[in-house]
Amino acid sequence: MASHQESSALLSTAGPRKTAASTLVFISLAITTAVALSAAAAFSFLFFSSSSSPSPHSTEALSSRPLSKLKHPVVLIISSDGFRFGYQFKTDLPNINRLIRNGTAAELGLIPVFPTLTFPNHYSIVTGLYPPYHGIINNYFTDPIDGQVFNMGSHEPKWWLGEPLWETVSNHGLKASTYFWPGSEVHKGSWNCPSNYCMPYNESVPFEERVDTVLSYFDLPSDQIPSFMTLYFEDPDHQGHQYGPDDVRITNAVVEIDALMGRLIRGMEERGVFQDVNIILLGDHGMAGTCDKRVIALDDLAEWVKIPKEWVQSYTPLLSIRPPPGYSTSDIVAKMNEGLESGRVGNGEFLRVYLKEDLPSRLHYSDSYRIPPIVGLVGEGFTVKQTRSSGQECGGAHGYDNAFFSMRTIFIAHGPRFARGRKVPSFENVQIYNMVTRILKIDGASNNGSVSFADAVVLPTHSNLE
Ligand SMILES: [Zn+2]
Repeated sequence: MASHQESSALLSTAGPRKTAASTLVFISLAITTAVALSAAAAFSFLFFSSSSSPSPHSTEALSSRPLSKLKHPVVLIISSDGFRFGYQFKTDLPNINRLIRNGTAAELGLIPVFPTLTFPNHYSIVTGLYPPYHGIINNYFTDPIDGQVFNMGSHEPKWWLGEPLWETVSNHGLKASTYFWPGSEVHKGSWNCPSNYCMPYNESVPFEERVDTVLSYFDLPSDQIPSFMTLYFEDPDHQGHQYGPDDVRITNAVVEIDALMGRLIRGMEERGVFQDVNIILLGDHGMAGTCDKRVIALDDLAEWVKIPKEWVQSYTPLLSIRPPPGYSTSDIVAKMNEGLESGRVGNGEFLRVYLKEDLPSRLHYSDSYRIPPIVGLVGEGFTVKQTRSSGQECGGAHGYDNAFFSMRTIFIAHGPRFARGRKVPSFENVQIYNMVTRILKIDGASNNGSVSFADAVVLPTHSNLE
């Protein structure tokens, strides 16, 4: 009760400014996006001019380096979950910095897809598709037609649309391996999650064991070394949720990821393959700090419209609502926004509700029957709950608008097909699929990435190489 009065008091002082504040929040958001998008388009011309400054390696900037030991190109994608862009500057990370210094990195980070959640993003990375087209529109959701529920343990092929890289690779007669990745256990096309090459998800496997297994693939006869490999770590996402992005325990987790990169690099060097492997180190999304005083409660909207919890498919940071048949969704949206803009709902200016077809098109989040008809965009660091509680917890969350800088993650690529010491402008992770197919010299499935973008980042090969 006390906290309710407290927030009401905050509310009345915030009241007169609410229109300006909410306009500001969403305008600044739109500007950020416009900048990001135009940067992605405009900077593609600048890749070569902004690339490697003259260095001992400058002659190599024009084409890839020949393989010394491997008989075929190999791409290893490593995901460090929730590795927010900027974590790499928290402390000295010698191994990650070695990859950055001698590789190609997104100077201001990799842009996740919306919603900036783990499953939608990991599956966009390996399919090149926005969530409505690959089908994984949230970490959990209900199919409105048959009522079946998708969650992070669902492996039935019906959920997983598009063609993930391991399927593309095996369709071309090449080998792929997955040490955890959302969707990797699903049998699709010629991919049947072969034992020893496709690990069933088990979060208790020590990170070192995962690295050592990937290294062991390089001890196999040449024709059995996978052309495409994935490797996944749950950290620092885990610590980010619990303590927020600024906690010292994030720094410690990132130091551990760096040590794992050191273990990987050493193991590859011992096998003579480090310079031959194209390593892409990335994350799926960033992390924003949250605190209970930044809560928006749906019950506070009751004066305008009642939103029963049964209608809510997910609360935060992606609010999605599916009212039962017979309700006017546009009427509900109008009443919710009226309440949120009234100045009488705590933090109301930090939630804006849309019919999914009215969401900004830059979010690419409407074209799927699986997406509920009403979607809310939540202000950075805010939390939507059904009921206002008296909690005072602080932590971290992701899932917000991908225009927020805090949602960006890292892209660091090192290997024969990536220029040394090059910085590229930020880009969306749907571009990565084409980079991998380009390196492996195979035709990929159609997707939302552009071929010209992949060509600008991946070095061309000499015809007489490899
Ligand atoms: Zn994640």
